Amino acid sequence: MTPKRALERGLAHLDGFDEPRVELEQYPTPADLAANLLHLADLQGDLEGHNVVDLGAGTGILAIGAALAGAGRVVGVERDRDALAVARQNASRVEPAVSADWLCGDATRPPLCPDGPVTVVMNPPFGAQRGRRHADRAFLETAARIAGVSYSIHNVDSRDFVEAFAEDEGGTVTHAFAAVLDVERQFPFHEEETRALDVEVFRIEWGR
Ligand code: SAH
Repeated sequence: MTPKRALERGLAHLDGFDEPRVELEQYPTPADLAANLLHLADLQGDLEGHNVVDLGAGTGILAIGAALAGAGRVVGVERDRDALAVARQNASRVEPAVSADWLCGDATRPPLCPDGPVTVVMNPPFGAQRGRRHADRAFLETAARIAGVSYSIHNVDSRDFVEAFAEDEGGTVTHAFAAVLDVERQFPFHEEETRALDVEVFRIEWGR
């Protein structure tokens, strides 16, 4: 098992978005949060020998971390080609370099039917922009369709929504923890240098 600290160290120097796109809610997961999420997945036996699919992979931190932690085949799906170019470069720069497949396309319609168990990891758009509340729903729907188990990061106070959604799909939330996602100032409407965003992380078994 990869120690959590080693994982965090390995992910600490990855590049983020060159020009983050607000409409896609491109907020990178910080290394400590990625390491926490992936360490739990590792402890639960959800990485080794599993296909890992990162939905909305961005610059790749969750996919790359999963590969570093010993996952089987790793696939990152992302609709922003520029972000994927950074992800590809990040994968070649970590120690040891990891291999992952990067697919450019809609993460809510992934062209995947992998052989063997699938673990989804994701930090989907939260729907923070007005009128897009629960943009994460389509991502959860996708996890329900393709994954045996998923790990996802959501806005604070999402627990009722996520639990109700999982139950409707025959799934169960087995683990939940709160975390802080430090968002660096990256859009003109951001007034502070960094903003601590309260988030929640869920492990869901989809009963498939
Ligand atoms: N997983 C990365 C990025 C999180 S930000 C990380 O943890 O750092 C959310 C990502 O989802 C962005 O890169 C955004 O471009 C992508 N995204 C949003 N909607 C998408 C969609 N429908 N299909 C694919 N990617 C999408």
